[in-house]
Amino acid sequence: MQIDQKRLHDDIDRIKRIMNHSCSRDLVQSNAIYLLGLDDLLKGTCGEEIDFKEMFVSVRQAQLFTYEMEGKVLDEVKRFIQNNCEELLKIFSVHDQAMDKIGFLTYPYPMDVYSYDESFFKDVILAFYSTLGKDYYKIVKKYFDENRIGMCFVHETNTSSALYYKIPLLKSGYVVSKSQVYNTWSLCDIVHELGHAIDAETLMFPQSKKMNISEDLYSEVFSLAIQRCLTDFLIDKNVDVIGGRLIDNETFLDNYGFSKKIGCAFPIKNATKKQLKKQREDILNLDDNVRYFLGHIISCNLINLYRADPKEFMQTLLRFSMSRRELNSLDDAVEKLGIDIDSFYRGDAVINEMIDNQGALKLIYHKAGIPRDN
Ligand SMILES: [Zn+2]
Repeated sequence: MQIDQKRLHDDIDRIKRIMNHSCSRDLVQSNAIYLLGLDDLLKGTCGEEIDFKEMFVSVRQAQLFTYEMEGKVLDEVKRFIQNNCEELLKIFSVHDQAMDKIGFLTYPYPMDVYSYDESFFKDVILAFYSTLGKDYYKIVKKYFDENRIGMCFVHETNTSSALYYKIPLLKSGYVVSKSQVYNTWSLCDIVHELGHAIDAETLMFPQSKKMNISEDLYSEVFSLAIQRCLTDFLIDKNVDVIGGRLIDNETFLDNYGFSKKIGCAFPIKNATKKQLKKQREDILNLDDNVRYFLGHIISCNLINLYRADPKEFMQTLLRFSMSRRELNSLDDAVEKLGIDIDSFYRGDAVINEMIDNQGALKLIYHKAGIPRDN
């Protein structure tokens, strides 16, 4: 599965033409982050670089615009964390305590997941998305048909195993995975990134909203909820029972221990330049943690809805995503999702999922007499 390089070059030419035509500073400013992304995409796919001068911006300027925008985002994140500190702390702690209480075990067997050939890999992704409804299947099919999904991607600085590069100017994008193999890990990564693509194509592009991953606290909800449904699908359809369980196990583990970090979002009195820089980094990290954590918790609360009625699940997710900009508090979000607020803060859904996952893995590995730590 490789990205169509000709299409990528054509897309870049189209953007140049749009930039040439409008000559607007605003347009350059609001698209700077996507132009930098496109440069990464071109480097990682073809080993070439974008000629930024043709886009009416220098790399340095594009970086500056991006940095400025991120600064505004960080302020928003800081405000959200401060205003919702108690609630976040409560739900983070519930998660940690539950893991401690049940004696959560890790299963470091990454090679135990299923390997696919390319065509079965695609079939599974399409079959999964068809459970969510025709519209979403169509978007995913388009990404495949237009060769907008590629493996073996190279990125020197970004540590993510997969990425979605969105191009709002063209109302489209590309999904890439660094993996060289078709297995359940890379399948899960691509399904996750396609979740971001669907989010952009159904909500962001049609409304011409200026929204990007770091700008939106709930942006991981969509993709993580879909990813959680995928693991359920893999288990339910017997595609990869162990792989599905291992990935869920990893997700619980990834979200462990944030309750101790949350204090760093508060301003330091008379902070030095160095302290401010450190705080910016802390909040950037915490921003990621909070976004993934919220996505994870919400997906645990929505998985039963997917099991009962995948289309209704998708409607709920869309309604939530559509209104996420107006959600000022975590309580607003919980309410919008139709989740009982007491049950949410008790962590009922998360704890149930955790116990279920641990029970299943124990059965698989311990019955087979395989020790956990080898
Ligand atoms: Zn994501």
